[in-house]
Amino acid sequence: MGDPWVATTKTNMDCIFCKIIAGESSAQILYRDDLVTAFRDTHPIAPSHILIVTNRHIDSVNELQPEDESLVGHMVMVAKHLAAQQGIAESGYRLIVNTGAHGGQTVFHIHLHLIGGRLARVVVPVPAW
Ligand code: 5GP
Ligand code: ZN
Repeated sequence: MGDPWVATTKTNMDCIFCKIIAGESSAQILYRDDLVTAFRDTHPIAPSHILIVTNRHIDSVNELQPEDESLVGHMVMVAKHLAAQQGIAESGYRLIVNTGAHGGQTVFHIHLHLIGGRLARVVVPVPAW
């Protein structure tokens, strides 16, 4: 058995983020509204590492529908709000949405990582041309 936080489940029933949203699993919740919930990542890779999660279970970006466009925009606006609240707006931060196996997604409930509080490593090399 792997570590319990490496959830790869695709169903609502045993989705760890659905459990957190429902209050059945604990998390350090920083923000909540009708559409999204934001809580601290249990394995932060930077001083500030927050997950902005849709309240409705959506597996990944691949399952987004045209009507979800404003929801995705809202996730980014909540990230902006939280970055300011955490005091990292000026120093900067990363917003990441991992998608599928090659994207490194481990929890199949769509979420936006807000990562800041330290200088990020450049992961996309500048093209030579
Ligand atoms: P992914 O790899 O899918 O983009 O990101 C999943 C993130 O969720 C990981 O950074 C992981 O540390 C975090 N995570 C997994 N399980 C839990 C949990 O039960 N509680 C919280 N707060 N974070 C979790
Ligand atoms: Zn879920």
